[in-house]
Amino acid sequence: MTSFDFSPELNRYLEKIQAETGREITFQENTNLGIKGITAAYQYHPQKLIIILNPEYHRAKEDVERSIAHEATHGYILYKMGFCRSKYGEGVPSDYKRDVQIIFTIVEDLVVNKIIADHGFAPFGHEYLPTLREEIRVAQEGEEAGEAFYHQFTENLHREALLMVSRYIIAWGFLRYYTLKNEEEELIREFTQVFGKYYPDYYQYAAQVVEIIQEKDIFKSDDECRAIQEILRLFKMDANVELVKTNQSQRIPSL
Ligand SMILES: [Zn+2]
Repeated sequence: MTSFDFSPELNRYLEKIQAETGREITFQENTNLGIKGITAAYQYHPQKLIIILNPEYHRAKEDVERSIAHEATHGYILYKMGFCRSKYGEGVPSDYKRDVQIIFTIVEDLVVNKIIADHGFAPFGHEYLPTLREEIRVAQEGEEAGEAFYHQFTENLHREALLMVSRYIIAWGFLRYYTLKNEEEELIREFTQVFGKYYPDYYQYAAQVVEIIQEKDIFKSDDECRAIQEILRLFKMDANVELVKTNQSQRIPSL
């Protein structure tokens, strides 16, 4: 690992992940993580857990640490819990890969946020609820205002639609899998309600994604893979990607 000045809690958590996955966590920097406003991202590598940090985006230390714990946990579910990852043939466009990755993230984040919350990290950062309040306000102006709002984060229209659906699923997931404070729960519930009311075109997809997830136990790898496959099919995105399980026994001998 590197010489970052992390809290003992985060260091302990990252050490546990390294020990249980048999893989070293390494950090890289990149200012373009696909969707604007993202601080950290997990990048697949067969031998390491790579966490990419965006040096241009400054947040409170607690939120940065939560993000790092979150991204490292993407590696944990892959290598320790046997979750699926995407595999592509040659010449598959990077835009398509990024969109597929959003579908993976929609499902994985429900699991990842639960795991970090069980390890003492906040399930969401400090910006989440204020952002949600803004998203509620925008939604009440209707679908066009919503599209314009999410367009700030990506110029790609297909990705914008996926992003909108993902916002619903994240909120739904907090209501479904977490014990929240009353005022948090009320706000998150309000967002899911205005989303359903004001974004009917997006909500019909979000509702189908919820149905797919509800039918399964996404905390188990087989169900997780199946859920992702079905959601990819729902968005007609399943043609050029293969879902594979990483060989969990394939560890670095020195670790
Ligand atoms: Zn994530």
